[in-house]
Amino acid sequence: MNLESARQALKQYFGYDSFRPMQEEIIETILKGVDTVILMPTGGGKSICYQIPAIIQPGMCVVVSPLISLMKDQVEGLRANGIAASYLNSSQTFAEQSAITQEVLLAEVKLLYVSPEKMVSEDFANILRSVKINLIAIDEAHCISAWGHDFRPEYNQLRFIRQQFPHIPVTALTATADKLTRKDIIDQLRLNEPSLFVASFDRPNLSLTVKPGQNRLKTIIDFIRERPGQSGIVYCLSKKSTEEIAEKLQIYGIPAAFYHAGMTAKARARTQEDFINDVVPIICATVAFGMGIDKSNVRWVIHYNLPKNIESYYQEIGRAGRDGLKSDTLLFYSFADVIQQRKFIEDGGLQELRLAKLERMEEFANAQICRRRILLNYFGEHIAQNCGNCDICTDPPQRFDGTILVQKALSAIARLKESVGMNLLIDILRGSQRKEIIEKGFDQIKTYGAGSDMSVLEWQQCLLQILQLGLIEIAYDQGHVLKLTPASQDVLFNGRKVSLAQFTSYQKQKPARPEKVQSKQELFEESLFQELRELRRELAIEAAVPPYLVFSDATLREMATKIPVTEAAMRQISGVGEVKFARYGKVFMKKILAFAKKQSDRTKGPDLFSAPAKRESTYDITYEYYRQGLNAEEIAEKRNLGHSTILSHLGYLFAQGHDIDIYQYVSKEEIALVKGAVKAVGSAHLMKTLHEHLDGAVDYSKIRLAISVLERK
Ligand code: ADP
Ligand code: ZN
Repeated sequence: MNLESARQALKQYFGYDSFRPMQEEIIETILKGVDTVILMPTGGGKSICYQIPAIIQPGMCVVVSPLISLMKDQVEGLRANGIAASYLNSSQTFAEQSAITQEVLLAEVKLLYVSPEKMVSEDFANILRSVKINLIAIDEAHCISAWGHDFRPEYNQLRFIRQQFPHIPVTALTATADKLTRKDIIDQLRLNEPSLFVASFDRPNLSLTVKPGQNRLKTIIDFIRERPGQSGIVYCLSKKSTEEIAEKLQIYGIPAAFYHAGMTAKARARTQEDFINDVVPIICATVAFGMGIDKSNVRWVIHYNLPKNIESYYQEIGRAGRDGLKSDTLLFYSFADVIQQRKFIEDGGLQELRLAKLERMEEFANAQICRRRILLNYFGEHIAQNCGNCDICTDPPQRFDGTILVQKALSAIARLKESVGMNLLIDILRGSQRKEIIEKGFDQIKTYGAGSDMSVLEWQQCLLQILQLGLIEIAYDQGHVLKLTPASQDVLFNGRKVSLAQFTSYQKQKPARPEKVQSKQELFEESLFQELRELRRELAIEAAVPPYLVFSDATLREMATKIPVTEAAMRQISGVGEVKFARYGKVFMKKILAFAKKQSDRTKGPDLFSAPAKRESTYDITYEYYRQGLNAEEIAEKRNLGHSTILSHLGYLFAQGHDIDIYQYVSKEEIALVKGAVKAVGSAHLMKTLHEHLDGAVDYSKIRLAISVLERK
């Protein structure tokens, strides 16, 4: 067997034209019968490394996998590509298991996925001895090591594989393994002079952004509205907050569900299914969610709270963009989260190590240099250039001389005899009349009110930077009061200057979505992509598989740009292998043709074969129709979207300053009512409270429209 047949199989079964950098080398090594250890990030393309050797060699590959849900997913994915795959685990009935065993004995299976328990059971070993096995693959191999972060006792037994099958090559695969774990994997599995492959852990398609933890909900809503229809996960620290945030998003018309360990197994399974099948695009969840999911088109991940360490953070954001398409990640960083995480650490073992890891996480969140460099550095990889895809690279923080601000804060801490925490200090600096402040005479100190020109948010960011610079410390053991450090003296008395990064305030952030004029080409591609997605959804329901197993987002995007209407062109699309072509090729070609015809009939379609351009957002599509004179109902029908969705688009466009006759949809009286309610409630964002306050007199979509009017620039 040689690389040529490997390449052929890649095209025939998976529809891909070439291997990714390390895949080829790995496959070559495996084909020589050498043991291998493969370290690649999630989405790096590990599976193909053992699947191709399994397919092109005589015999069968046994894959040990710890998660039942993943096994099912992998097997479905392989079958969709016409590869004979099956799995055996405890979730199956005896009859199901014996049927599969029969297939195995008849050599009808090329890839067999099994649980670790199954792998080491005597019965199963006997079956395996009577068939030809070309490779044993241990997926998630770090689970074998007690040093790893995900040790599984069942994996311990895998030590006996080498004894049972001394002559079959073994490959161990994982997305996380430090040096210690790596060595442990090799020792425990008794690998025989294995070749080690360590791919870069960089995931360049994931953008990295960190924002201060204020106005989180509004930031999230804007973030989601800029990405309509996209699938994403909001990770939260507590079960309660997953429910609360999901509810708030729903009130804003955003289809979100929640997921946490406190739900029944049935409810959890249901939520997970809905997510996988693109029925519910957004899940607010605790971090366990996503572990057993291979969904390749998760387009974004938000961390509502600071994760406990960089390993967890990287693993969680890694669940986005497995298909390699551009995906976004957003982390909120607040001091309250740090305190919360510290509390968790105080309650458990290994405190020193865990604290050090938390501090590295904080350093990342506070970074003033390319975030990807920090991340990769943490994993022992060094890149020579800034990434250009993190917030620091795309929007470098402006710096200013903050010496006077810092002096104000330090002097206040000194005058307060190092007895107050961050929030109280901010109130004192801002000259608050809070009872506690007056009673304790804090309004008498010289720096009382010296910082009244800055908002609480700005002071919080200022103090966080002062903390990071080592100019103050937090006495975690004394009610989190702030203490001076030797370095503080330099600033207070020895003329040391302090440079600070400009604070961000929610209002001052650049408009979320810069105004863009969209070309017809862009409109065309986006609408075609949406139609192809819809077709994919229908086919997925029919075949009872998740939509991304029909075709990945990446494949549909390529179709929307390249517009393949001939067989040859369709076969060229990445991800269209032989079986998928036979199964779906014609239907998709038909759809694309019909779409193109519809467009050119309207003489609005672009030149079909002109160069692809950037895509546009859903708001622009709505706006384009609106400008053509369609009303909300007609647009809703054209776009196959809800009436209220279109109304919310029009409200958004109006708030952004576009020329929309909004009063057609909400009256001046209603706006006045909402304005009064906003004043009484004190916020324009508590939709439910506003609705209650208005006693149902104005419905949700009109409240939203009225707020757009009030918010118009
Ligand atoms: P991992 O197991 O490392 O998380 P996967 O094996 O699931 O990664 O691969 C991630 C995605 O990349 C899958 O959608 C897979 O089909 C795709 N992929 C893998 N290898 C290639 C390749 N050579 N060309 C194009 N896409 C690939
Ligand atoms: Zn960067």
